[in-house]
Amino acid sequence: MVNVTLKNYSARFGLFGMLLYGITVPVAGIAVSHLYYHDRRWEDIPLHSALEALEALTALILAILLLFLRKHVRNQEHYVWIACGLLVMGVMDGVHAATTEMESSFIWLRSIANLGGGLLFALIWLPAKTSRARTGNALPLLTLAAALTVGVMSVLYPAMLPVTISQGGYTPYAKIANIIGGGLFIVAAARFIGNYRNSGQFEDFLFANLSLLLGLAGVLLFLSLPWSADFWFWHFLRSLAYIHVLSYVFFVYQRTMAKLKVLTESLGRDVTEQGAKLSREIAERIRTEDALSLSEARYRRLVESVTDYIYSVTVVDGRAEATSHSPGCIAVTGYTPEEYYADPALWYRMVAPEELPLVTEQTALVLAGQEAQPVEHRIIHKDGRIRWIRNTPVLRYDQNCRIVGYDGLVSDITERKLAEEEIKRLNRELESRIAERTAELERANDQLAQANMELQKIDRTKSMFIASMSHELRTPLNSVIGFSSILLNEWVGPLNEEQKENLATVLHAGEHLLALINDVIDVSKIEAGQMDISRENFDLFSVIEEGVNALSQEIRCKGVRLCVENLHQPMHTDRRRLLQCLLNLMSNAEKYTESGEVRLSARPAQSAEACVEIAVADTGIGIGAEDAQKIFEPFVRLESPLQTRVPGTGLGLYLTRKLVTEVLHGEISFSSESGRGSRFVMLLPTDAGPRSKQ
Ligand code: ADP
Repeated sequence: MVNVTLKNYSARFGLFGMLLYGITVPVAGIAVSHLYYHDRRWEDIPLHSALEALEALTALILAILLLFLRKHVRNQEHYVWIACGLLVMGVMDGVHAATTEMESSFIWLRSIANLGGGLLFALIWLPAKTSRARTGNALPLLTLAAALTVGVMSVLYPAMLPVTISQGGYTPYAKIANIIGGGLFIVAAARFIGNYRNSGQFEDFLFANLSLLLGLAGVLLFLSLPWSADFWFWHFLRSLAYIHVLSYVFFVYQRTMAKLKVLTESLGRDVTEQGAKLSREIAERIRTEDALSLSEARYRRLVESVTDYIYSVTVVDGRAEATSHSPGCIAVTGYTPEEYYADPALWYRMVAPEELPLVTEQTALVLAGQEAQPVEHRIIHKDGRIRWIRNTPVLRYDQNCRIVGYDGLVSDITERKLAEEEIKRLNRELESRIAERTAELERANDQLAQANMELQKIDRTKSMFIASMSHELRTPLNSVIGFSSILLNEWVGPLNEEQKENLATVLHAGEHLLALINDVIDVSKIEAGQMDISRENFDLFSVIEEGVNALSQEIRCKGVRLCVENLHQPMHTDRRRLLQCLLNLMSNAEKYTESGEVRLSARPAQSAEACVEIAVADTGIGIGAEDAQKIFEPFVRLESPLQTRVPGTGLGLYLTRKLVTEVLHGEISFSSESGRGSRFVMLLPTDAGPRSKQ
């Protein structure tokens, strides 16, 4: 930034400024002071010394600065000449400041400074490589040493110096030396002007001005006299030149600060970036270390949980010579590898005595060079516990197939063995339990078979009993019914009223008993699967009519209406059993209805094909929902006020359902409401034949 500003400034001034500054001002000043103030003299030694000392100091500072820049900034090798020139002038002017007009070294030192400085400045024309060479680095020191030597010698041996001032004016020596020196500065200035024109660099502008001022001051010296106005102006010019130098120092300082700022910023950015990178790396490292310690822990656990180890035996002439055990042997046997090494017989002593022959046999086989099978046996652990191990040897042979050793893997199989033993024990336990259970089962089966046989025997006895009883009971019962009916009809002779009444009771009881016996026989036949089925072709109408005829009188006698809806429908089924079912339902309707009506209806079924629906409905006492499940069970009679008055066995509905489903191949259902009547419906196929064939 500063650099750019200065560059603009110098570019604006350009060569014009340079001419004004470096040529016009000095020439005009000298001319004015020489022409108009020629006779003015002002001798002030302390001021002069102060000026010279200041100039010397400034020259030395600039010299050091240039040398520093030369070392640290690339392509600034030519600074070495300017620095050397400034060193010479600094040293000489310094010594000059310490002398007075009265000493002969006074003007001599100034002239030498001018000549030496000018010469070194002019060397700027040399090619860059000369200053880049090694000698370039040594030049400043050499120059300094030479300048100091000349300076000191000049003060110490003034008599040896040429006369430079006489009668208040400069001698030709002084004049020539200064003119040549000044000329050389101007030569150097030409180079800087050239540089400036090429690069527009502010340094070149400053160096050009410095050289011009120093040059003109030297060239125009001959016009002046010591302490005259020209003399002071001459010093003023040099001071001006050094002000340039100071401004350059300031410029370099500014530029350095700007660079430093940029550098600091970029350094800051770098530091931030590096810091971020570093913290990323640290985080990464921590993660890696964590992962590492995790895997280490895992490895440690793995190693600790390993229950195997390896041993190695060297065999010489069929004998085991040296044995080595891996550290895992401690976990398995309790002994360290060193203990095995110290005591070759330790291994055998450790084997459980009853299994020693097994182990000895395996070892003998291996030592003889024969492959041996793995052996599982017990050992006594160092802590006294019994452990199971599995020893698997693998043989090593030399080129001649002679055994040279064997390696073995010893695995701790205690857990497995214990588990196996536990399994065996459980198996044995299970087997004995199964045997016990089987024996129990066999015993139970025997008992079952025996009970079954007894049951069958009882069943046969029952059937025989029923068959014989039915026959035995029916025959005398028929005689009772027949004869009591003959007597009641007075075919044998007249009877009085009491006799008639008693005989009627006998006849009624006989008929009831016969009905009961018939029902019992039917039930036992159905249950034994011995019911005879005889199918025939008939018209349903006739069956309904027969049923109505049998019971209409009884119903109407009770003052109950009987309504009939009959149907002509050809049927092929067991006519007798159909009539029996119809009579059962109708007699129940009659028995459990005190008033109202009994309605019998036969019609083709809506719900199924080739079926008829025969319904018997009454307005009697009805059946409660809680009893609906019971009525088709055998010997069930429901609680009712009519129960005692109405005869019944509790077998009617049971038998009817059996006959409907098993003989007629139909279904029976009912609906009822307590106190309002019941409706029983039989759904019967018109032809029961096909299903019976199935
Ligand atoms: P029972 O010989 O007693 O009539 P059933 O097996 O024919 O035996 O009937 C069983 C019971 O069902 C009867 O005792 C009676 O309580 C009841 N029951 C049967 N039919 C009817 C009906 N139409 N109305 C009311 N109750 C009936």
